[in-house]
Amino acid sequence: MNDTIAVVALDATDVRLARRWDCENLLLDEHRRLETYSHSLSFPRTVEVWPTVATGLGPEEHGIAGDGNEWENPLLRAASAVTRHLPREVRATLGRPFQRAGERRSIARTDADHVFEAGAVRYWPGIADATHLVESWRLMSFATGGDITERELQRELRGLTGEEFGWLAVAAEWDVPVVGVHSHVLDTAGHVYANREDDLREAYEWVDGQVGRLRERIDRLVILSDHGMGVSFLGDDDPGTHSFDAIVAAQGVDGPLPESVYDVRDWLERRTTRPAAAESDAAARSDTPVEHLRDLGYVE
Ligand SMILES: [Zn+2]
Repeated sequence: MNDTIAVVALDATDVRLARRWDCENLLLDEHRRLETYSHSLSFPRTVEVWPTVATGLGPEEHGIAGDGNEWENPLLRAASAVTRHLPREVRATLGRPFQRAGERRSIARTDADHVFEAGAVRYWPGIADATHLVESWRLMSFATGGDITERELQRELRGLTGEEFGWLAVAAEWDVPVVGVHSHVLDTAGHVYANREDDLREAYEWVDGQVGRLRERIDRLVILSDHGMGVSFLGDDDPGTHSFDAIVAAQGVDGPLPESVYDVRDWLERRTTRPAAAESDAAARSDTPVEHLRDLGYVE
């Protein structure tokens, strides 16, 4: 058995929906509702909660609050500041053509230390380069404006998920205590299908199947979410709004599950084991002459 704990930050997985549709893989061997919080708005926000999960700190301490994202292009950043007083829908409409043209936004990262320092982490908002979250928001923006077909949306989302889960399965074989990846697939599906139970159920069942494949490769697996999702078919007041119904689920990890997003880091650190041998710090080297790599255009 490999001792590495692999963590899936499965954004917006709603504990009520995973139970409702008997998603046995999402629920793993044991699960519970995970307490989460709201800070800058009246509901939980992705970019505030995920850094908390990884650091054990609230937004005041980890330093990422609000929407936490900005345009990478300085001109667009300046334009965005100038139009700050405009209604949000107008700003979204103004921004969409730039998103379509490939302009990117990026998410701030915390300086605080976190649970993955001794391991590996990818796409986790506030901790790693959250390129997939930004990509998911871009798809969400297209879906909102009717600029993408249902099939395109589904393929894009599932493609991102494949990269995330595939990376986790490989990283879980490394000799490190903990690895983690963030996936936004159920958040986007939750927003898009908040009034369409059959479609959202299909998305949950697809992700459940993918997690089933992870379970075949990973002994110690943890699934977490930062919030749930209001849906009309459960009678929620505001379908498509983040709810407080987050989840934690685990297999191969002892003891009671953490109660809140603030407890996850400590809970993980008490259960990770140090790698048997120190990781080699030898620098990588290439056996091909640099001249040839230049000729190929690989290096400057
Ligand atoms: Zn989220």
